[in-house]
Amino acid sequence: MNWIEVSIEVDGEAAEAVADVLQRYGHQGVAIEQAGFPIEVWPDEIPPADKLIVRAYFPDNHEADAAQQRLREALWHMSRLYPIPEPSFRTVDDEDWANAWKAHYHPLRLGKRLYIRPEWTHPTDMQPDDVVLVMDPGMAFGTGTHPTTQLCLIAIEDLLADWPQVEVLDLGCGSGILGIAAIKLGARHVLAVDIDELAVKSTLENAAYNGVTDAITAQQGSLETLRGSARHFDLLLANILARVIIDMCDEGLGDLVRAGGKAVFSGIILDQADDVEAALRRTGLEPTRRRTITDWVAIEAVKPVA
Ligand code: SAH
Repeated sequence: MNWIEVSIEVDGEAAEAVADVLQRYGHQGVAIEQAGFPIEVWPDEIPPADKLIVRAYFPDNHEADAAQQRLREALWHMSRLYPIPEPSFRTVDDEDWANAWKAHYHPLRLGKRLYIRPEWTHPTDMQPDDVVLVMDPGMAFGTGTHPTTQLCLIAIEDLLADWPQVEVLDLGCGSGILGIAAIKLGARHVLAVDIDELAVKSTLENAAYNGVTDAITAQQGSLETLRGSARHFDLLLANILARVIIDMCDEGLGDLVRAGGKAVFSGIILDQADDVEAALRRTGLEPTRRRTITDWVAIEAVKPVA
């Protein structure tokens, strides 16, 4: 399938507003590039105030003309508040889409022993006791370069250091990076769930690259799908937007964790951390620890044994 790329060069202040508009029309979020360097950008993230290129993609199908028209209209309305240049549109094929950012994604060390190897690279500096994660996120979120992902990986490594055979739920699995890390660090089984079918596909592909297919089940869905099954997990991982986590807490997210089990929540900006912790308490989880990278916070919690 082909994609239509829309890109607009703006300064930092307008970038956030433009990204918001593109987010509404784009598929799989928005990328913001600085000086030609693409960054994995979290939907809530505020970009730095330099010249930035905001890009988004939508499918080149029968709805493309209408989508393009709506997008132009939305941008025109915005241009009355912020001066923004005309958007550029171009058609890219799937392969270009998926490959464009590969040049900027390099092997990365994290925590004590984690080593993220982009699938197409062949680094020579791996150590015998490295825990290697082989990743090709494709169109899913989760290269490991984003602080929200890194906070989770570091927490998982710590938690599993003396906790073997854990049953894990990776909610909002994206590329599957968190679940795959959990298995490589000793978890017994991971259920990986995402509302996006591309994420499910990406998780299964990455599980295969890592030789952990037997230990991962990936399926499309969300909290509703899981609550029906009355399953309880030892460890819940959820790197999703703070407001989504809060909503899920009010819909019984805590019920998915067994008494004595633990959870890691990420995707949270410092300002939102108190609200997330209050929501965790409402769903029967007790926050125990915050970890931070810059303004990003991951919150660990336990489900008290009654
Ligand atoms: N776990 C990966 C990806 C995080 S991005 C990592 O840590 O890097 C967040 C993911 O959550 C996206 O793949 C998105 O599709 C998914 N998501 C968003 N809202 C969701 C919901 N309500 N239920 C399940 N998944 C959701």
